Amino acid sequence: MRCLFVSTDKRRVVLLGATGSIGSSALKVLRMHADKLTLVGVAANRNAPALAEICQAFQVPHAVLSEGTEEKSAAKDFPVATDLRYGPEALRDLALRAQADCVLVATTGTAGLLPALTSLEAGIDLALANKELLVLGGAHVVAAAKRGKARLLPTDSEHNALFQCIGAEPHRSVQRLILTASGGAFRDTPLAALSTVTPEQALQHPTWSMGAKITIDSATMANKGLELIEAHWLFDLPDERLEVVIHPQSIVHSMVEFIDHSTLAQLSPPCMTFAIQNCLLYPDRHPGTTPGMDFTQKLALEFRPPDPRRYPCLGLARSALQMGGVAPAVFNAANEIAVERFMRREIPFTAIANCIEHALTRIPVFPTPSLEELFASDKEARRIARLY
Ligand code: NDP
Repeated sequence: MRCLFVSTDKRRVVLLGATGSIGSSALKVLRMHADKLTLVGVAANRNAPALAEICQAFQVPHAVLSEGTEEKSAAKDFPVATDLRYGPEALRDLALRAQADCVLVATTGTAGLLPALTSLEAGIDLALANKELLVLGGAHVVAAAKRGKARLLPTDSEHNALFQCIGAEPHRSVQRLILTASGGAFRDTPLAALSTVTPEQALQHPTWSMGAKITIDSATMANKGLELIEAHWLFDLPDERLEVVIHPQSIVHSMVEFIDHSTLAQLSPPCMTFAIQNCLLYPDRHPGTTPGMDFTQKLALEFRPPDPRRYPCLGLARSALQMGGVAPAVFNAANEIAVERFMRREIPFTAIANCIEHALTRIPVFPTPSLEELFASDKEARRIARLY
């Protein structure tokens, strides 16, 4: 279909996962900075009404529904000028069709991997909120960014904090990265009670408002485990120079210690618009969409080490990072299935870690896997986790 919308010289943004939690924060940033950013493509899985509403509000010329059907009922609410397509291939090439300058990947799962690789190879900058993508295909993503001379802009709040703190410092100046974690819904629950907690309790995050899967991952700290692996790929540092501390207030989003033992931290209220704006407008700073910190009020910032008995998933993620090869992909896939099964009340909360461990010990780890091998291990890990 011919594009009827007028093109401009603003930064052209494609948003994958536009109907989700990160997607809606990104739309706030796009709305506030409409003089600098324009939304040229959006994608969702199957939520056609919400995607159509976004296309109407932002006059988006290109849209994709990955699993939506080609029924007229899905298409009728979209603006006539929006080129609406369906399926994973349409998702993969969306950024090229939309001639994007930057793609924000805010989909869940690994559906964003091929679109991300395609964009990077074409030299399009990638703002990455989705951590599963680097956990599954980190080596491929980093290589594609190098080949395409595209920038990887970390949008996960912790990695964006690290990215801001490192700034223009050379890699050799960085001693270690310290990722902060809220500790999730059960950070103060007696250990003995963890085996009987419910999905509803696990979804009560103490500081952040996020999608369901990531909220459960915060309670197990599998999320921080995924972030350790993500940090390894984004900042090219080995496991022993990546640390995690519990910081219940979620104000310090992460810290960088340099070789002279100075530590820099990034602080802001717990809201994703800060990191998203930093990436979409990078390297420029402009007024924020959300009020910042009020340091005139009493504020206590607390840090403590995570208890390995409370958070076994964190140790498993570290082991997967050390094992390398397909192990991080297995960790991620088994975790996704275990979380689904916990949400369906098929397994207790404490069995999430057992299920991941079970999968990690059953899949052979081999170095430098191809994309096909990674997807095959992901599939096998899911099969094993379903049977656990
Ligand atoms: P949500 O579940 O709120 O939203 C997921 C989005 O992805 C929806 O728009 C969904 O579409 C879309 N989607 C899912 N599968 C596909 C697919 N195959 N093709 C196209 N679109 C798809 O998730 P969040 O926004 O919470 O999280 C998104 C990512 O960001 C995750 O990787 C998460 O770990 C990460 N992240 C999230 C944070 C947060 O605060 N929420 C913080 C930091 C990182 P539909 O509506 O149709 O289902």
